[in-house]
Amino acid sequence: MQLLDLRSDTLTQPTAGMKEAMFAAPLGDDVFGEDPTVNALETKIATLFGMEAALFCPSGTMTNQIAIRLHTGPQKEVICHQYSHIYLYEGGGIMANSMASVKLLTGDLGKINASQVAESINPDDVHAPETTLVSLENTMNKGGGSIYTLDEIKPIHALCKEKGIKLHLDGARLFNALVETGESPADWGAHFDTISICLSKGLGCPIGSVLLGTKPDIKRAKKVRKGFGGGMRQAGFLAAAGIYALDHQVERLKEDHHRARVLGQFLIQAPHVAEVLPVATNIVIARLEGLTPEVFLQQLSSKGIKGVKFGKDLVRFVTHLDFGDDHLEEFGKRVGKN
Ligand SMILES: *Cc1c(COP(=O)(O)O)cnc(C)c1O
Repeated sequence: MQLLDLRSDTLTQPTAGMKEAMFAAPLGDDVFGEDPTVNALETKIATLFGMEAALFCPSGTMTNQIAIRLHTGPQKEVICHQYSHIYLYEGGGIMANSMASVKLLTGDLGKINASQVAESINPDDVHAPETTLVSLENTMNKGGGSIYTLDEIKPIHALCKEKGIKLHLDGARLFNALVETGESPADWGAHFDTISICLSKGLGCPIGSVLLGTKPDIKRAKKVRKGFGGGMRQAGFLAAAGIYALDHQVERLKEDHHRARVLGQFLIQAPHVAEVLPVATNIVIARLEGLTPEVFLQQLSSKGIKGVKFGKDLVRFVTHLDFGDDHLEEFGKRVGKN
């Protein structure tokens, strides 16, 4: 039986075209700043977002953690939603890497707004950690792949600017949002101090994330990356995959979103699925009744379908490059049957 693995959009294999681009890449030592392909990727993506500079890193956790290190430190505080990847899924890195405090906000679909942020900025007072950073996530993973529109960002950006607070975007899946809204990368680049983009999610690369920011910030980021052990040598092999993905595998994210919506419709018909959260992009979250996620997933596993537990009564499925229309049809057939 063919396995339908929907645990994450990181599970994809590089396409033939991507592999070809990787093996054809000119290489050099990137710690010396001499890998032409890494340099080309960094320039390409910085230009796309209208930002001054970019830094290629092994993971999205590293790009986020570098940004947090740039904008916080001991006795400083970052404001973010309680579902944020930077808080939940980065190994406690905010504390371990930056010794910073976190203020967690609530909000529908993992999103926060400017008035909440305004209320959460600490006064200039000896008792409180100093608020120096707001971090947003788009799309919002634990919010069900939900999308922030630029109109929702603008008041937060204006507030941060007024208060002298930095604004970071965990844009691991930012391209998933952009292909849906039609907004341009440059519009997003204009509203953040730093942006982190994953190449290894829907874009289908085997590895890699990019941090975008000002020239001085990226210069400092390079040093932090070295300190984190993330300086890579002939990394052009990997950067070439990123260039290929930006050229060939962005628009196709729409297909993942379409398949996710259909998958949600199949799922709602499955026994014990009480609700499927609104499907905005490639993430489908279902709420179960009368069955634990563990048992539900075990039953699906015996039918060759894999998802993950995403809360005490929630399961998550993510569509991706290696999940096509025939897989979708097969998913429908298998979940319908008990
Ligand atoms: C995957 C992901 C990251 C980065 O994860 P890595 O596995 O370290 O690349 C960051 N933020 C979000 C929202 C993610 O989904």
